[in-house]
Amino acid sequence: MAETGGNQSYPKVPEVAVQCCECGAALSPADDSCPQCGSQNRHILASDTVNLNLKERTDAKLRVPGRKKPIREVRSGDNFFHDTQEWHQIHRVIDRENDRYYEHIEDRHGNVVHHVEQPLTQHQGRGSAKGKRSLRP
Ligand SMILES: [Zn+2]
Repeated sequence: MAETGGNQSYPKVPEVAVQCCECGAALSPADDSCPQCGSQNRHILASDTVNLNLKERTDAKLRVPGRKKPIREVRSGDNFFHDTQEWHQIHRVIDRENDRYYEHIEDRHGNVVHHVEQPLTQHQGRGSAKGKRSLRP
């Protein structure tokens, strides 16, 4: 395809911008493949308003043979909190190998709702240790 001239203003796409994953060329949303490299891997850059409806979350668990529980759990992304009926950004890491618990939650406005960083053993000990006090010798 031969491009003609450069003096005509190209149409702007206000809501959604499409970019080639391979070479980064700007594509038209109508393009099936990249005119530069032919790749069909496209990257869609949506505007903020569109993003609000795109909820994404990653849950990852790292398991090793012989261990019942995953040695590491990571949850990252959008999480719906029923208490407040709001979507929050959550980042949680449970690291059983290094005895570490990390949890960071922000609301949609970027305010920190919750932040915990402590040894995992300490975190799990909360609450469950109380019942043992009734056991008296
Ligand atoms: Zn390309």
